[in-house]
Amino acid sequence: MRLPASVRDLATELARDEAGLPAYVYDLAALDTHAGRIRAALPAGTELYYAVKANPDPDVLRTVARSADGLEVSSAGELAHAAAAVPGAALAFGGPGKTAAGLAAAVRAGVHRVHVESPHELAALAAPARAAGRPVEVLFRANPPVAGPEATTRDMLLMGGTPSPFGMDPGLLEQAAQLIKGDDLAPVLRLRGLHTHLASGQDAAQSRRTAREVLDFGRRWCARHGVPGPEFTLGGGMAVDYERPEERFDWAGYGHALAALSRPGETLRIEPGRAVTAYCGWYLTRVLDVKTSHGRVFAVVAGGTHHLRTPAAKGHSQPCAVIPGPAWAADRPRPGVAGERVTIAGQLCTPRDVLARDVPVTRLRAGDLVAFGLAGAYAWNISHHDFLLHPPPAFHYLNRIG
Ligand SMILES: *Cc1c(COP(=O)(O)O)cnc(C)c1O
Repeated sequence: MRLPASVRDLATELARDEAGLPAYVYDLAALDTHAGRIRAALPAGTELYYAVKANPDPDVLRTVARSADGLEVSSAGELAHAAAAVPGAALAFGGPGKTAAGLAAAVRAGVHRVHVESPHELAALAAPARAAGRPVEVLFRANPPVAGPEATTRDMLLMGGTPSPFGMDPGLLEQAAQLIKGDDLAPVLRLRGLHTHLASGQDAAQSRRTAREVLDFGRRWCARHGVPGPEFTLGGGMAVDYERPEERFDWAGYGHALAALSRPGETLRIEPGRAVTAYCGWYLTRVLDVKTSHGRVFAVVAGGTHHLRTPAAKGHSQPCAVIPGPAWAADRPRPGVAGERVTIAGQLCTPRDVLARDVPVTRLRAGDLVAFGLAGAYAWNISHHDFLLHPPPAFHYLNRIG
C-alpha cells in the first residue's frame, strides 16, 4: 500500500534503535483532515458522534473532537476516560449490560443521552435520575424489524433486524414505552427518540438503505408514542476496505442521501468509529527472520497480532508496505527472498499469529521494516497485549494538533 513519507521516515529513524520497533504511529494531521471531510460531507444539523471504542487514544479523541458533535461511550470506563481526555465533550452513553454504578456515573457526569437497551435497564435508570433532580434524556436502542442490511461481504457483522442481545425488538420497545409513560418514570426520564446500530462493514449504498428503513420504522414509532421532535441515531458501521486500502467510504454520497431523508424538526445523528480513525494509524515493525517451509515463504516480524489483532479478528490480510532496513551489520548471512509472495507472521507461538498472507514483495530480508496501515481502529485496543509477555510497542504521534 502507499506509504506517506513522514511514516517511512519515522520508521527508518526508529529502526536505528533495537528497541525502537515495534511501534504505533498516529498521524493526527491526517486524522484531522479526514474527520473534517466527514463533517463537511454531512448535511447541516446532522450530528456526528465518534464511537470511542474504535480507538480511545486521548490524542486521537482530542483530534476527532474538533470535527465531532460528541463522543459515544459504551462503558463506565470509556465514559470516565473520554470525559478526562476531552473535557466538556457531549457524551452519549450506550452499550449492553449497563450496571447500576455505570448508570449512576453517567447521570452524575451529565451525559447528553443515555441509550437504553432494555425495559429492565430503563427501570434501573430511575433511581439515579431521581437523585439528579433533573430529567435524564434517553434514546431507546431499537432492533427494528427491518429487512436489514444484507450480509453481502464476509466481514459484515449484523447486530439488528435479527435476534440479538442489542437493543429492543418491537415487543420490548412497546414495554419500555409503557414504562417510561408511567407515574414512576415520567417525571424523571425524557424519551427523545430511537438509537440504532444495525451492522458494521456497510458501504454507502447499504448505509443509505439502512438509514431509510430505520427512519421509516422510527418515524412511525415515535409518532405513535407522541415523541416530539424525535431524534434518530442511525449508528456507525461505515465500511473500511482492508483489501483496497486507498478506497474510502463514499461520505459525500451518504451525506446527500441523509440530506434528502431529513425532515425539519427532527435530529439525525451518526456514530461511526472504524471509518473515522482506521486510516490514521500505522503499526511499524522489523523482519526478524525469513524462511521457506514446505514451499511457502514466511517472514517473522517483531510483535504480531498481540499488538495488532485486527487481521486475526477479521480474517483478512492487513495492508502493508516494505521499507528497506539499515545495512546488515551481523556477521552471518542475511536471510531474504526476492520476487516472492510472503506470509508475514508475528512472534506468538500460535498459527493464528498471521498479519498478512501472500504479500507480493520485490525483496524482503531480515532487518527490513514493514509498515502495516489501516491500524488506527480496533487495532492496539482490541489486542491481547500480555500473551507471551513480549515488550509492548512504543506510541508516536505525527503532527500533533494545536
Ligand atoms: C461499535 C459501535 C459503533 C461504531 O461502529 P463502527 O463499525 O466502528 O463504525 C457505533 N455504535 C454502536 C452502538 C457501537 O456498538
